[in-house]
Amino acid sequence: MSFYSLWPAARTAIESTLGLVYPNVCQLCQDEEATAAEGYVGSNCRRQLRYLQPPYCHRCGLPFRGAITQAFECANCQEVDFAFESVRAAVLAEGVALEVIHRFKYQQARWFEPFLSDLLVAAAKPVLTGAGWDLLVPVPLHPVKQRHREFNQAERLARHLGKAAQLPVRTDLVRRIEPTLTQTRLSRAARAANVRRAFRGVTGKPIEGAAVVIVDDVLTTGATTDAVARQLRRMGAARVCVWAVARAVLDGVA
Ligand SMILES: [Zn+2]
Ligand SMILES: [Zn+2]
Repeated sequence: MSFYSLWPAARTAIESTLGLVYPNVCQLCQDEEATAAEGYVGSNCRRQLRYLQPPYCHRCGLPFRGAITQAFECANCQEVDFAFESVRAAVLAEGVALEVIHRFKYQQARWFEPFLSDLLVAAAKPVLTGAGWDLLVPVPLHPVKQRHREFNQAERLARHLGKAAQLPVRTDLVRRIEPTLTQTRLSRAARAANVRRAFRGVTGKPIEGAAVVIVDDVLTTGATTDAVARQLRRMGAARVCVWAVARAVLDGVA
């Protein structure tokens, strides 16, 4: 069996272990040193990241410009009744962060995994530790999509966070039963209804009273994570929060 007939994920692991394919060069700018342990993102590119810092909506984590000192809820959260209590993220989904997530997810650029998981762990671990959370649930992919992509990026990130924060990762609780449809032409309400039908909690998995953290790579409107949170609450979860690596920046904010 030749090296290149190996299962691609195994091949990637071997490649990154041996440093076979990539020299220690930043895979974003190609112009600075970066190691495999750094996910091949160098310090110049890292300096371009914008970390999610207050002020932001205490519920959905939407960054807000201006001097706001007390807890604040954005207009959308005042309108929508989310099933999660809060969303937090490490960085804003723009520039370098967005490019890495995109390539990690759609171009099988697995070498970025340490970079993304380190961002998530550094932001989430101190907040989650000792705060009564019981388990992590990565946003599931539809099985067909997962076969095609070979991995679920949210699950990979959740595994790193679970290890660091010593929380179990459960992929058996919620299933994605419909692949995501193209949503751009739908109204916000239609989109939410659509997404809501895409997930189903698995019966016979009691999580009564559990405090659950949903993990995703990037959060945009919150509709997807809300749909997952809804299933978990129906299954008995007492509390649900969301952690993502990156939070979308919407018009007019941040
Ligand atoms: Zn760079
Ligand atoms: Zn909000």
